[in-house]
Amino acid sequence: MLNNKHAIVTGGGTGIGLAIAQALAAQGAEVTITGRRAEVLEQAATDRIYPLVMDVTNETSIINGIAEAVTARGPFQICVPNAGIAEGKSILKTDLATWRNMMATNLDGVFLTIRESLTSMSQTDWGRVIAISSIAGVRGLKGAPCYSASKHGVIGLIRSLAADFAAKPYTFNAICPAYVETDIITRNVTSIMQRTGLDADKARALMVDLNPHGRLITTEEVAEAALWLCGPNSDSVNGQDIRIAGGEV
Ligand code: NDP
Repeated sequence: MLNNKHAIVTGGGTGIGLAIAQALAAQGAEVTITGRRAEVLEQAATDRIYPLVMDVTNETSIINGIAEAVTARGPFQICVPNAGIAEGKSILKTDLATWRNMMATNLDGVFLTIRESLTSMSQTDWGRVIAISSIAGVRGLKGAPCYSASKHGVIGLIRSLAADFAAKPYTFNAICPAYVETDIITRNVTSIMQRTGLDADKARALMVDLNPHGRLITTEEVAEAALWLCGPNSDSVNGQDIRIAGGEV
């Protein structure tokens, strides 16, 4: 289905990004995965998945990285800005540096990745931009105002781009998961244990209970949605926030 298509997945060495990269590659795409840790990317590399060290908070790193990948494997037709960080903290305990780092990673990184990828995509007659936002991007997530603001920003960007490019053969959508089984959850569980003294099972149960359907979402479930957006019948789905959230509304 995706033979001869070149995709970029930021944060593609782990978690949701890796599952999406593997799903795209299984359908024939060549996938450039990015992140800051070369060793993590190397572990994920295959004959269709190519590692590229790129820091999404650094404009020069993105411009140079994307140019290098496009020179090697052609224009990007699938762009998945997924790299992100998560932190839950009261606004009263959030200093400006924390806020700026969150915005630099979760919002500037998405903006720059899309902008640079679009330059190459616009030389082609088909393209998909699939940003990984969060359920926190469509509702206010209690205890995480900074994260929630950054993820709302992603959806605003996507909606606007869908309107701007509606007459072109490209679509722009955001996927908004609730809690997905990845390193972010592992870090949250550790933080709950440190804060509350609960053991690992009880701390994990607290995370699981946050999803209304009583389980964590799998990375494969998110990847399936991304794959569908790259499929033959998705042209009219544009500018949407697609919630994979187990009944969270
Ligand atoms: P991971 O921590 O596994 O993935 C985050 C990825 O982003 C890592 O591969 C990391 O690579 C990369 N990354 C972080 N900062 C930077 C940076 N400055 N430059 C380049 N890459 C960076 O967690 P997930 O897979 O869960 O997260 C993926 C996305 O999904 C995030 O945007 C997250 O907000 C979103 N999400 C996750 C949910 C969940 O419950 N897990 C729920 C809703 C949304 P490296 O550290 O090597 O740079």
